[in-house]
Amino acid sequence: MQISPIPTLSKDINEIRSKTASIVAEQIIPNEKEIYKGGDSAKSIRAEIRETVKSEKLWAPHLPEQYGGMGIGFMAHAYMNEILAWSPLSNRLFGVIAPNSGNQKVLLKYGTDEQKKKWLEPLVAGEMESAFSMTEPDSAGSDPRSIQTTAVKDGDEWVINGHKVMTSNGIRADFAIVMCRTEEETNSGEINSKMTQIIVPTDSSGFNIIRSVPIWGHTGGDHVEIKYENVRVPLENQLGARGSGHAAAQDRLGAGRVFHCMNSIGQMWRAFDLMSKRTITREVHGGLLESKQMIQGFIADSYIDIQTARLMTIHCAEVMDSEGDPRVDISAIKIYVPAAMHRVVDRAIQVYGWKGVSADLPLFGMYQGARTLRLADGPDEVHRILIAKQILKKYRDGLSWDFGI
Ligand SMILES: Cc1cc2nc3c(=O)[nH]c(=O)nc-3n(C[C@H](O)[C@H](O)[C@H](O)COP(=O)(O)OP(=O)(O)OC[C@H]3O[C@@H](n4cnc5c(N)ncnc54)[C@H](O)[C@@H]3O)c2cc1C
Repeated sequence: MQISPIPTLSKDINEIRSKTASIVAEQIIPNEKEIYKGGDSAKSIRAEIRETVKSEKLWAPHLPEQYGGMGIGFMAHAYMNEILAWSPLSNRLFGVIAPNSGNQKVLLKYGTDEQKKKWLEPLVAGEMESAFSMTEPDSAGSDPRSIQTTAVKDGDEWVINGHKVMTSNGIRADFAIVMCRTEEETNSGEINSKMTQIIVPTDSSGFNIIRSVPIWGHTGGDHVEIKYENVRVPLENQLGARGSGHAAAQDRLGAGRVFHCMNSIGQMWRAFDLMSKRTITREVHGGLLESKQMIQGFIADSYIDIQTARLMTIHCAEVMDSEGDPRVDISAIKIYVPAAMHRVVDRAIQVYGWKGVSADLPLFGMYQGARTLRLADGPDEVHRILIAKQILKKYRDGLSWDFGI
């Protein structure tokens, strides 16, 4: 891994990137196989790495200092993320553990002081686990307005009924943030059905896990299907204002998409590195792979894929950071980056032959991850619709699209 200072970035961000790269390259990547084996040896390696991360003040880049995090802000975290992503193990070892990290951000922004004390602090301390429960088997996850799970007020409690699926980390979670439909009478007497997020402890009566969904055939994973059957929680478990659930979910997903994309870029970068090293050492048909023009095409096309994905994502992050309107850029990177990653990893797999699809290399996991990202966090088609809507609205308003902003 070669990470040089970027001239346009501050000294602080360059230092964070360089220190992160040392830990990922020297302590995490060489120990990946041992950590995956599990057991006592893995536990002690993980503990040692966490110690280094904390002593270098690189723990929890997504959190403010008040909650034990780095307090570095959005851009620095985005730039750090492409380095963390070189190993699928890094984020967890640096204290960024999805979906806890997303829930922590939502609790920080929408939680009351009591909720922060009760749910956020133990989550940050690692004493609790959490999940985010929005998607349902019988309504379109790509259209969150179609959610059918209801929360009805009864005295000083919410009573929740519904059926959810793909609640990640649901097996070990102590609480889930559940997206519910709450009904409200408007001033004109109509009933307005809005989305509200409610914190549900997983030991509540009626919180029933039906099964673990075998994603990519992997059984016993932590993405679960849940039935909420007359689950009762106190009214104070409502997170944010009534009806703010959709906005809170967008908040979570907006910044999350930039981090996911920087994460994809880091993975592509490692795949590119592995592929390039293989092409200069592997002999086939009387010559090194690097001498074959089709393989040179792989290298060139992958460079173009990574560089375009990276610049698009950094541009999007800059628009967000400068409080511009990032909606078109977020959708554009959400479509482009996983597809670019899919292509780059696919070429790297091809270059490695059997080894590429084996667990000797991290490429198969990257490949599945890239494919999955094309439908999670909003499928490609929905983002295409959003891009076209935003752009065409400008033209209907008599303006045109300005690529300079
Ligand atoms: C690994 C993984 C982890 C996940 N973790 C969580 C989690 O923790 N919590 C949670 O709540 N959810 C989670 N999800 C669910 C994810 O958010 C949904 O899968 C996603 O929102 C899509 O919803 P859906 O699967 O219901 O697809 P649907 O909404 O049924 O859409 C299916 C397909 O229809 C097409 N489509 C949709 N709309 C249009 C349109 N307007 N025009 C043309 N085509 C269209 C798209 O190709 C889309 O892929 C996870 C998913 C995965 C794969």
